[in-house]
Amino acid sequence: MLNVDLHCHSTVSDGALAPAAVAARAKAGGVDVWALTDHDEIGGISEARDAARGLGMHYVTGVEISVTWAAHTIHIVGLNFDEKNEDLAGGLHQTRSGRERRAHEMAAQLAEVGVPDAFEGALRYVGNPDLISRTHFARFMVETGVCKDIQDVFSNYLTEGKPGYVPHRWAKLQDAVKWIRGAGGIAVVAHPGRYNLSDLEQDVFLAEFKRAGGTGVEVVTGSHTPEEFDIYARVARRHGLLASRGSDFHAPGESQTELGSLPPLPPNLMPVWHDWRV
Ligand code: AMP
Ligand code: MN
Ligand code: MN
Ligand code: MN
Repeated sequence: MLNVDLHCHSTVSDGALAPAAVAARAKAGGVDVWALTDHDEIGGISEARDAARGLGMHYVTGVEISVTWAAHTIHIVGLNFDEKNEDLAGGLHQTRSGRERRAHEMAAQLAEVGVPDAFEGALRYVGNPDLISRTHFARFMVETGVCKDIQDVFSNYLTEGKPGYVPHRWAKLQDAVKWIRGAGGIAVVAHPGRYNLSDLEQDVFLAEFKRAGGTGVEVVTGSHTPEEFDIYARVARRHGLLASRGSDFHAPGESQTELGSLPPLPPNLMPVWHDWRV
């Protein structure tokens, strides 16, 4: 059976390894079909593709777009698109804008609760000045002993109602799906179990996602529990969505899930890769 991993990050967004090093780690984890899906960025694609090909993996272009839908932040993974498409590149550029200003506001809030110099601290972990993210702040706060690990950071800081949380307006759902589809790719809802949507909200969201042209949902992801693998397998079947699999790997020792290590998709699902020549 093919080992497919279609979700992970490099230093081009909030991962800790360069694209070629992520490729090597995927290969070491037994991955046969691989996509790098940096947040709102496709700048890692050429390095990732060259490395994957050198290692004999089937490479698929990828991205994870931040979307604001009904006051929820939702992530949409795009796969197998033409990375030279200008509307997609322009849309991602627009989605990235505002992160630096947001980061300054986050740092100001953290300073008020006794965590000084967080902007400069986070910046030391940033590989791409366009993409300063909460993960970089989290690494700084672990390094300086403010928190014991990344989970501890997101339990006490940087999330809604906690210090350092700055709401942000990301791309529109319809736009994100349109950019991906317009570049010939497929749009997949990332880790649907993470959004705290009610069943009704989730049905409304998935209906809008499909109407916009979205066709897939992550079922087996490092962000889901084994129970959620089955829950979202049922969701995929019920809504007629293709199923995806990806570790959401970010960094050695930080991600709970290694590249290529997840169980296979549950039965009776149509994988997102069903019509790829892999
Ligand atoms: P941002 O795009 O700046 O809002 O940062 C979002 C990133 O923060 C996600 O892609 C994750 O990598 C990380 N993140 C958010 N919530 C958590 C959490 N509870 N545990 C670990 N990482 C998280
Ligand atoms: Mn991330
Ligand atoms: Mn995500
Ligand atoms: Mn991700």
